[in-house]
Amino acid sequence: MTMTMDPTTSGASSRAVDAGRLFSAGHRATLDAHLRAYGELPQRNPDAMLAELQAAGLTGRGGAAFPVWRKLSAALDAGGRRRGRAPILIANGTEGEPLSSKDAVLLRNAPHLVIDGMLAAGRTIGARNVLIVAEGDALRAVERAIGERRDARGIEVVKGAGGFVSGEASALVNLIENDDARPVDRTKRLTTAGLRGRPTVVQNVETLAHLALIARHGARWFRSVGDPVDPGTRLVTVTGDVPTQGVYEIRTDATVRETLAALGLDFGTVSAALIGGYQGAWVPARAFDLPLTALDLAPFDASPGAGIIHVLGDHRCPLDVTAGIVKYLAGESAGQCGPCMFGLPTMADRFAAVASGQAVAENAADLARLAGLVVGRGSCHHPDGTARLVRSALTVFDHDVRSHAHGRCVRSAR
Ligand code: SF4
Repeated sequence: MTMTMDPTTSGASSRAVDAGRLFSAGHRATLDAHLRAYGELPQRNPDAMLAELQAAGLTGRGGAAFPVWRKLSAALDAGGRRRGRAPILIANGTEGEPLSSKDAVLLRNAPHLVIDGMLAAGRTIGARNVLIVAEGDALRAVERAIGERRDARGIEVVKGAGGFVSGEASALVNLIENDDARPVDRTKRLTTAGLRGRPTVVQNVETLAHLALIARHGARWFRSVGDPVDPGTRLVTVTGDVPTQGVYEIRTDATVRETLAALGLDFGTVSAALIGGYQGAWVPARAFDLPLTALDLAPFDASPGAGIIHVLGDHRCPLDVTAGIVKYLAGESAGQCGPCMFGLPTMADRFAAVASGQAVAENAADLARLAGLVVGRGSCHHPDGTARLVRSALTVFDHDVRSHAHGRCVRSAR
């Protein structure tokens, strides 16, 4: 398998793993190192670039997995081919998800690849404005990289607001436009009328790095590894009960087991993994032979999302862990829609009760009911994602729920 560790978190250079694609220029790559590794970014005309992206099958790596060529095409048609409505490109380098650090790692180590992707995508849609939103060290790495090259001087760097929902696309636009990082209920797609009413493409920074490689090497090269439906490589952040936590580049068809085995995991000590992040879904250890793709993980309502695997050792109570996450999510809403203001805090209380063994059957039934009620009722998908996690935990850890109902936790004996 193709697997690259983040050099900043895990000592990649000392491990016998394949070099992968996104970190070929090495640790905290300068422009010289970047050009030595990848060469100059070729100029492709918009239609040729869109055709290459369509053939490559690149999907967004920020969580939604939307086909990249479709999003760029929509903005080009809405504005880039017309006068006066020049589109805007926003690179999203924020990571509100507590279990993810892959975008920050990418920006710190390969900022020039992301900048190449921004320039290539901006050119493809005819963007007049190209911005990037990032935070902390990652933001400073981008600013340094922009300072190294003349072709990137027009890129505007915006400081992210932090917080779980602030990285949502409409929240980013709201932040830039109104200094308010809450999601906005929009009647029109951002690609039609986004920032300043202009067609706007918000694209995750890892997606743009892959786009930069497709601009250089083409669709056939991109498809030469990975899953036929969702090809290439992806970054994953692996946390939890694993010997080595970190950010890794894996083939998109790598199984959960292959990925974790390469980190030296003892599978006998693990009960499940949370895939896709706090609003993802639990996948039990018996299903670890499934590839980390949305299609393969569909029976568990799971998908890689922003590339997150959180491993749960069998000494930890999954209900306790999930209760903590639901409480966190209830506190992270922007507090402007009913399901978030009333539904999520109630769900957090009910889950805490299940975890601590209070009226377990009644609270679990109420949780299932509430999870159905909040879906599709917010301005953004925050309630939907929280409901997915709750449903997943009640299903995958059904045995634990029944044990709690009988006044004991099966994990505490381990
Ligand atoms: S659904 Fe929740 S997080 Fe999303 S905009 Fe409404 S209040 Fe904010």
